[in-house]
Amino acid sequence: MNECAIPQDPSQKARTKIIATVGPSCDDPAQLAALIQAGVNVFRLNMAHGQPDQQQVVVDRIRKLSAELNEPIGILVDLAGPKFRLGQLQDESIFCSRDQEFFFVNGPSSAPNELVANYEPLVHELSVDDQVMLADGTVSMIVKEKLPDRARLRVVQQGIIRSRQGINLPGVDLSAPAISADDHQHAIWAADVGADFVSLSFVRSPNEVRTLKNLLRSRNSTASIIAKIEKREALDRLAEIVAEADGVMVARGDLGVEIDVAEMPLAQKQIISTCQEFHKPVIIATQMLDSMHESLRPTRAEVTDVANAILDGADACMLSGETAVGKHPKEAVEMMNRIALATETDMASHPLREMSTPESDNLQDITRAVVRGAGTMAHALKAKLVVVSSHSGRTALALSQQRSFVPTIGVSTVEATLQKMCLYWGVTPLRNAPAYDVEQLIKHTDAWACRFGLTTRGDRIVIVGGSHLTAGSRDPQMASGVHDIVIVHEVEAVD
Ligand code: PEP
Repeated sequence: MNECAIPQDPSQKARTKIIATVGPSCDDPAQLAALIQAGVNVFRLNMAHGQPDQQQVVVDRIRKLSAELNEPIGILVDLAGPKFRLGQLQDESIFCSRDQEFFFVNGPSSAPNELVANYEPLVHELSVDDQVMLADGTVSMIVKEKLPDRARLRVVQQGIIRSRQGINLPGVDLSAPAISADDHQHAIWAADVGADFVSLSFVRSPNEVRTLKNLLRSRNSTASIIAKIEKREALDRLAEIVAEADGVMVARGDLGVEIDVAEMPLAQKQIISTCQEFHKPVIIATQMLDSMHESLRPTRAEVTDVANAILDGADACMLSGETAVGKHPKEAVEMMNRIALATETDMASHPLREMSTPESDNLQDITRAVVRGAGTMAHALKAKLVVVSSHSGRTALALSQQRSFVPTIGVSTVEATLQKMCLYWGVTPLRNAPAYDVEQLIKHTDAWACRFGLTTRGDRIVIVGGSHLTAGSRDPQMASGVHDIVIVHEVEAVD
């Protein structure tokens, strides 16, 4: 049995989790392994780029590497949702100058100023005064007139557009379903391939999250549903969406176009604090180290952005193009890890976060009290580790949400649970531990922690588990979930 769960010195790995998007810059086995060594916890497969048969190859590689390195790694399948794009332009690129007029038309365009979209009802659903944003929000047009087969628009913010660039329609009420036929097929693939997380783009209501959950559950998937917040409508129903989802992504690429970019920093803070209230992990995404597409060094502003996201309470930071198509994917991950490590030192002296209302965490009241007590004890006793055995991962998540600086080791006999822990701030998933036998677990973690230099004789470890004495903890695997014991253990000499 290979117990070497963390190949490098664990103290060199940030508590904040790192998500890397897979693309041509990092998708071969050696590059993926290098990213894991550099600190990646979860890989994101962007279904907007790549069909299931191509992504399947990547999934197989990640699972194989995870087994070889004996390190749990999460897989996030990101569904494209109702993303609209320009069709083929007549020219390679078109400069849209201020006050110039363009037409969105049904059917093929027959002149350079005629635009088409991959969303057929667009012309029908646009109204006079609607805003149409193109090319990642760099070009903005206003609908001036509706005709039966076309809409006339005027440029208000000039810039260059190219074929297949995204179209954002802030505030326009569209009939496009949240889960397209492609998304449906990709979600089924994600379920069948055992994805740990499935994210849905352009979420507008909690109902859309529920629909995806039902679809995944109907395929026996236990994947966590991540709601991508990137529309004003989602901000308007934020608490309901967060309550329904298992986690949230602040998808700043589209959010920064769908709302005024100047409002985005406060929206990000609002999303983080709502997730804290509901004990849900929150991922900050897009342009975190954007300049590292080309450069080996990020800008000061990017470093500060990452640090502020962590200080505000982000559970994970995501790299997109930096790892997918950038020139320095490994260096971008190393940099993210370094920024997180440097920033997290500030959190060492912070008080534990309050455990919030019972409805928000799905925990039994005994477990909630035990988790709160374990966190307090670990702090008071200056414990070196907290070890939690967790069947579904809920108890590990609850410990993570306290933001205790004491590292938490999550153990489980369920591989999917260990992979979910890859997203939980401060939790290191450990394979092959005797999760449900407290005595054996103590021996095992003692030996493991000493081997990695995490503890020495006399150090304290706090263990959270089930005694099998309380009715709800009699299930030997604690599937029904009562954690009713906290043990404080002093490390003795380990052979
Ligand atoms: C985003 O918009 O920031 C995002 C993460 O989504 P996508 O990369 O699918 O546009």
